[in-house]
Amino acid sequence: MSMTSFVIATTACPHCGAELDRAAFVYGAASPNEGDLSLCAECGEWAAFGPALTLRVPTDDEFMEIGENAECRRVRAAWLAWQREGRS
Ligand SMILES: [Zn+2]
Repeated sequence: MSMTSFVIATTACPHCGAELDRAAFVYGAASPNEGDLSLCAECGEWAAFGPALTLRVPTDDEFMEIGENAECRRVRAAWLAWQREGRS
């Protein structure tokens, strides 16, 4: 399972506005590149890294990709389990 955690520049979730200085649930490489995906630890919505590694709402195409991607579904399931466990 390619779930990684790393420190990124402070950026806000494009869905809920949470200030995120750590992307806890990420699909992609060990360090984020433009186009990589991040699941917001606060609201559980997907965001994509844009230029300068700020987060933006995924495009329609990216949402399609996310829906069809088994790894993305596993990451989201892990987030849901983490929520149920009280974010331990
Ligand atoms: Zn959020």
